[in-house]
Amino acid sequence: MLDLAFVSSPLDRNANNRTNADFMKARRRDPNTMVLQLAGDTVRMDNASLFTANDAPQTEAIYLGEDLNNQAWFARAVAPNEDFKPLRGLMIEASLPAAEISILAHARSILHWHDSHGFCAKCGAKSQMADAGYRRHCEACKADHFPRTDPVVIMVVHHQGRFLLGRQAAWAPGMFSALAGFMEPGETIEAAMRREVLEEAGIRVGKVSYVTSQPWPFPSSLMIGLLGDAENSEIIVDPKELETARWFERSEIESMFDGTHPEGLTASHPYAIAHHIIKAALD
Ligand SMILES: [Zn+2]
Repeated sequence: MLDLAFVSSPLDRNANNRTNADFMKARRRDPNTMVLQLAGDTVRMDNASLFTANDAPQTEAIYLGEDLNNQAWFARAVAPNEDFKPLRGLMIEASLPAAEISILAHARSILHWHDSHGFCAKCGAKSQMADAGYRRHCEACKADHFPRTDPVVIMVVHHQGRFLLGRQAAWAPGMFSALAGFMEPGETIEAAMRREVLEEAGIRVGKVSYVTSQPWPFPSSLMIGLLGDAENSEIIVDPKELETARWFERSEIESMFDGTHPEGLTASHPYAIAHHIIKAALD
């Protein structure tokens, strides 16, 4: 799982101290504190490294946690400029250490939540950041609002030695991947998986098992990687969801991974969870 992106944050989130005003004040003032600067999906760089200087009073910065050297990490939203690089590009290039990419995912998701939740969802008044960034409070109606994570089921279904993969029209030509979809309110993970596979490909799923998970900060999903056993094999694609879906033999998927597929088909990159659950299915 080493090359799976966003799963290697070394930070102790230290949640018990988020409401400790004296502690936060000291951490914000510490010159050794690391402060990330993000503008939407992009992050400020210092040549090929993350820019992390504590260069200004950080009353609006969000606390991320403490690293292994007992340095605090914060993140704040700023205006973009040419030193900024997109997080997606940094993930694809794998040019930063896995730990730093993972911290960036945390920063990106929580900053996005603040950026899109500036007003109370109950009464519409402007809300204020609290708990070092892990709550927004509305003074007008006293409501509290908490950061959102949106769970997504992503799965590979198996049937008699073959594996179900699909592709969306917007993807690179020839690329296939695991089926996926957002969970709905009131659903179990298993029910969401069975619903999505039936809706997208017409396949009924019996047994479901869990493989692993991955935060996906575009903007704040949690990918839940699953395997399942199919109960039928006739695929009926929903064209609103997928361009196509089909069953693949093990040898064919192996050739897609190593770039030797005769039709030039490819499968997901190792930074994405789909790659790992396809491998888990083959195993
Ligand atoms: Zn309110």
